[in-house]
Order: sequence, then C-alpha cells, then structure tokens
Amino acid sequence: QTIGAFFDAMVARQPEHEALVSVHQGRRYTYRALQADAHRLASALLAQGLNPGDRVGIWSHNNAEWVLMQLATAQVGLVLVNINPAYRTSEVEYALNKVGCKLLVTMARFKTSDYLGMLRELAPEWAHGRPGALDARQLPHLKTVVWIDEPGQGAEEPGLMRFSALLDQGDAADPRVAQLAATLKASDPINIQFTSGTTGFPKGATLTHRNILNNGFFIGECMKLTPADRLCIPVPLYHCFGMVLGNLACFTHGATIVYPNDGFDPLTVLQTVQEEKCTGLHGVPTMFIAELDHPRFAEFDLSTLRTGIMAGSPCPTAVMQRVVSDMHLSQITIAYGMTETSPVSCQSSTDTPLDRRVSTVGTVQPHLEVKIVSPDSGEVMATGQSGELCTRGYSVMHGYWDDPAKTAEAIDAEGWMHTGDLATMDTEGYVNIVGRIKDMVIRGGENIYPREIEEFLYRHPAVQDVQVVGVPDAKYGEELCAWVIVKPGQALDEDTVRAFCKGQIAHYKVPRYIRFVDAFPMTVTGKIQKFKIRDAMKDQLG
Ligand code: ATP
Ligand code: MG
Repeated sequence: QTIGAFFDAMVARQPEHEALVSVHQGRRYTYRALQADAHRLASALLAQGLNPGDRVGIWSHNNAEWVLMQLATAQVGLVLVNINPAYRTSEVEYALNKVGCKLLVTMARFKTSDYLGMLRELAPEWAHGRPGALDARQLPHLKTVVWIDEPGQGAEEPGLMRFSALLDQGDAADPRVAQLAATLKASDPINIQFTSGTTGFPKGATLTHRNILNNGFFIGECMKLTPADRLCIPVPLYHCFGMVLGNLACFTHGATIVYPNDGFDPLTVLQTVQEEKCTGLHGVPTMFIAELDHPRFAEFDLSTLRTGIMAGSPCPTAVMQRVVSDMHLSQITIAYGMTETSPVSCQSSTDTPLDRRVSTVGTVQPHLEVKIVSPDSGEVMATGQSGELCTRGYSVMHGYWDDPAKTAEAIDAEGWMHTGDLATMDTEGYVNIVGRIKDMVIRGGENIYPREIEEFLYRHPAVQDVQVVGVPDAKYGEELCAWVIVKPGQALDEDTVRAFCKGQIAHYKVPRYIRFVDAFPMTVTGKIQKFKIRDAMKDQLG
C-alpha cells in the first residue's frame, strides 16, 4: 500500500476525529479537513507543472504546512526532501542541488534565521523583484519558492509565492490526484532524508512508501496507539523521528498529532501536555532532561501521559527512570534506528518488563532481521559479545541518493545494512547499543566504550549531563576526556570527579581530561556531535 491510500482509508473510518493540533499556530484539523487540504495541495503542486518523481523540498520547523506537504507529495508520487531548518546558505544550496529540487516550501523567517534572505543570497535576482528569474548558476533546478504565511498577513515577497496562494490554486476534487494515486507503487521513492550529521557530512537516504509506512505502523503497534491517543511531538519533522515515529505512527492508528512549538522549548512542551491532555510524548534524551529539570516542572499536571519514545542517541537508564516516575510515562519505550532504515530496527513494546524497557533498546521489530558481526571478519558474534549491528528487511533504504558507491559501502550484496553501531544481544533477544564504532576509544590496547563511563559519571548528583570522547595521545594512542555540564546551583571540580571514580571503575577508564562546559555541540535534532568535542580538544591540547 501507499501512504496516500492508507491515510484515505483512515479518513473514511473516522472523518470527524481530530488529526492534528498545531498549538503554536492555533490551528486544529479533523481527519477530513486535513485530507481535503492535502488533496488541494497535491492538485496545486500538479498545477505548478510537477510530475511524479520530481523532488520538492521543505525547509521548515514543525507546522501544519509540513504535514500537508508530507501527505500531498505522497498522494501524487512527488519525492519530499526534508531540509534541516538549521541549515545555512551553503548547506541548503548543497541539499537542493544534490537532489535537484524543483520547488521549495520554506518559512519566511524564524527568530534570527532569515530563510528568504539566505535564498536571495543564492539567487540575487529575486532581490530585484523579477519573478521567475532565479539565478541559474547557483540553483539550476529550483523553479519556485513558496513561503509559509499566515493568510492575509505579511507583505508580499517579490518573486515568491505565498503558501496560502499555492493552496488556492488547487482543487480538492481534482480528478488527476486520484488518477495519479492509483498508479503509484509501494516501492516508489517518496522521501529523501538527510542523516543527522552526527559523525560528519549528512547523507541523503532515499526511502519508499513501503519503507516508512510499515515502520510507522509497527512503531505505533509497539506503543499500542489507538484513536484515543494524543501524541505530543516536539522532535523535528525534518528528521525521521518526527516524520515516521510521530506522524506516521499516529496516522496509521487514527491518533491525534500535537505540535507544541516550532523550535524546541521545554516550557511549551509541559504546558501543551497539560492543556491538550496528551497521552504520549516523544523526545531525544536531552529534551527529556530539559523538561524534567525545568524550574517550573512541578507546576504541571502530566497525569494524562502514558507512552512515548526516547531515541536518537544513548538513553541513560537514570533519565528513563525519572521519565517513568516523574512524568507518568510508565509505558515509554526506547527505540533504536537510523535514517537509512526508515528508521527503527529495535524497540520494546509497552508490554516489555520495565527493567528491560529502560535499560535496552528492546527486541527486533517484526519482519526485520538483525545480526551482530565482528567489524573485522564479518563473522556472527557469540550471544552477549559486542559487534557491529546489521539490519535486513523491508526497512532498508532504497539507497543514498545518486551515490551508488556509498550505497554499496553501507548495504552489502545480501541486503544487510551495516549500521556502524556496536551492539550486544542477550539470550532473550534484547539488544543493547554499546556505542558507535567511530566513538570507541582504544587506550593502550584496551577497548573502552564511552557510553559506560558516561552512565557512571551521570550518577554523580551534581552532574546534569556528560560526554566522553577519546583524544589522541602520544603514549597510549588515545586518552579519555569527559565534558561535564554541572547542575544549576551545584559545584563540581576535577578532583571531586576523580575521587568519585576511584575504586568504582578501572583506573584506565578514569578520564585523563575533565572539562566543565555550559553546553555540548549539537545537531538541531539534539544529538551531540562528538567529533566537534574531539576537534575542540585537539585544538586545546595542541
Ligand atoms: P550521521 O550518519 O550523519 O553521522 P546519525 O547517524 O546521527 O548522523 P541518524 O540516522 O539520525 O544520523 O541517527 C542514527 C544513529 O543514532 C544510529 O546509528 C545510532 O548511533 C544512534 N541511535 C539511534 N537510536 C539510538 C538509541 N536508542 N541508543 C543509542 N544510539 C542510538
Ligand atoms: Mg549514521
């Protein structure tokens, strides 16, 4: 099945049920209203001269327009390209040109980011108000830029189209939309998502209806979503976490999507959960930490919460426990995945015993295979031994866009996706993510997993968050370095941290360098970029 067909069937079952609440825009849609606007937008995109297979970009924070673009493009076989709202001029130029986007929908401005200004730098002809006169040298494929407006508000932007004007060009009953929808196949590419760029340059993963629709469905099954659920989604939609674990998990189960804000803000998340009586909440660990540690946390009634997903990066057991006890998320689960696998490969179900749910990434998802192999020899490891996790099945991406060489490096001839992550599996099939192969530290011949030391240091009451990396060392090859964020109002120094480690962890695991910082270098999805910590240390240590 395709995403459009699945969504239309859900609308037929419960047309008047609430599908979407965009709190920061003050907008609410029933399933029927969302479908009507999505069909209208699909018709309008066709009227722009676009054809199935053409790439259409969205460069925006979370809002109703984002979902409409997701549904409309899927309906008529356009390939939606998710562009990170944190990208700046050269990055957006790279993304648009890499995949040849013909049309781009973007926010005009957001806080200090001037999206239209950045595009004008790339296509200066716009500045002179000559519609259609894009600078062919820098953005040769892009023909149309659409900015997300509040209808009737804001000055016209010379040469650009308002989103409301684009919608007005469409017809919700346009017969071409249904005709095209009937020709689509589940194996058609429908989406290009760039990886987070945690370990380096983002890569564009091409995904099909089958890839992400199935994954969204099975994720919703793990969470036991029903139409009674209202899922608060503060994670960005441009990433698979928001788009698949959020939007598609909800749509495949008839649940309601709630966007609290258009850039992460812990206070609005807490307010939204209370006011919208949300039953679910998603987040990366750093988001949950920010919510739990917010000075006004205790003021909010979060008792409607039941489930949600923590994912994206290592989820410290201590944070999971606080989320269960202080946020009422007794049925929260951890999911493990990557953009290239649509994304989730392993996840607990809400039935998984609590201790397993907070300390492992659960078991392999239905209809997928997982194996753990030696990164050197490729041999399958014995149970309990750590090795590289490989995934196979419906979820493995079509490939990296226009990059057969990189695709062949990642997916082997037997269809296994090599994740670059180190994992173990126990006798009952529970998987534990040990770390990334690239992050493993080898100090004097000892393999050290930074995750283990992070978990240990996290137990110190004054530690709010901690990251451990390896830095080059003439004597040992690598030395350990910890970056620590201290809780507000608490004090901590190097000696106290060392004394805390003494006798508790092996001497070679005690970080040689300890630095106190206010924040970590992060992607907009809230993932910590260890390579930037390593680079900063290299600069410091010379
Ligand atoms: P890039 O590939 O550009 O360096 P990235 O790998 O962070 O960035 P994503 O595809 O967004 O991009 O993230 C997938 C990665 O996130 C996984 O390979 C894994 O390292 C990490 N990850 C995801 N979920 C978990 C989890 N539950 N526990 C630990 N790590 C996780
Ligand atoms: Mg990756």
